[in-house]
Amino acid sequence: MIELKGVSKGFIGQNGAFKAVDQVSLSIEKNELFGVIGESGAGKSTLLRFINALEQPDEGRIIVDNVDVQQLSKKELRLYQKKISMIFQQFNLLSNKTVEENILLPLELYDYKQTLPIETVLDFVGLNDKRTSYPAELSGGQKQRVGIARALITRPTILLCDEPTSALDQGTTKEIVDVLKRAHQEFGMTVVIVTHELEVIKELCSRAAVIEKGRLIDTIQVTRKNEQK
Ligand code: ADP
Ligand code: ADP
Repeated sequence: MIELKGVSKGFIGQNGAFKAVDQVSLSIEKNELFGVIGESGAGKSTLLRFINALEQPDEGRIIVDNVDVQQLSKKELRLYQKKISMIFQQFNLLSNKTVEENILLPLELYDYKQTLPIETVLDFVGLNDKRTSYPAELSGGQKQRVGIARALITRPTILLCDEPTSALDQGTTKEIVDVLKRAHQEFGMTVVIVTHELEVIKELCSRAAVIEKGRLIDTIQVTRKNEQK
């Protein structure tokens, strides 16, 4: 379980100091598909960076599986971060590396013990035939599939998605939402997805936090029309 307890973060902006995140408390269950929705600048990405410990809150605590993330030693923190994968709006692929090399990158940078075979993740995202292609040869949806494969290969327990469909058209958004849904079913992990698109939340998440100007203003339970089918 991921618990944010009264976390805040201030920054200095053009009009002086402001709170990008203001006293946010929320709990995300293990294996949940949890959404964070709000406008650009609301503080959503900062919340994600709290979870993977790339950002420290000024106040409040981040507790993951009963461990206070800010109390971890350097070594423990590395182990913790290795269990978290991230996917991005702009995919963050290396243009001079092939699809396969991009997917294998985390394994090159860090020492993982239990990873998925490259064939398994390529199969899963349906990019077997693009193995030796370069990012420039791919469509947006294919690039995000590479991003998802790169995130899955390390067998994360937490998958953080920062506006994963915001650079994609409507049809491709549906496609990527479906891949994420299948990834959650097949590999079982906690997924936190930040977006400004309500449709994505409706399709994918069980619950979502609504963030406005750094504040948590509501937590919504998502019900789907076709859920009983
Ligand atoms: P969102 O993901 O909802 O778009 P962010 O969490 O990225 O929002 O940012 C919230 C606000 O904090 C924005 O106004 C952003 O410009 C500002 N911000 C984020 N990180 C920094 C930083 N490192 N320094 C200064 N301002 C920042
Ligand atoms: P996102 O697109 O995910 O909301 P941003 O592009 O806002 O992320 O932020 C990317 C990086 O730039 C982050 O590390 C964030 O902390 C930093 N950043 C964002 N806004 C500002 C800002 N106004 N001043 C300085 N750094 C910022």
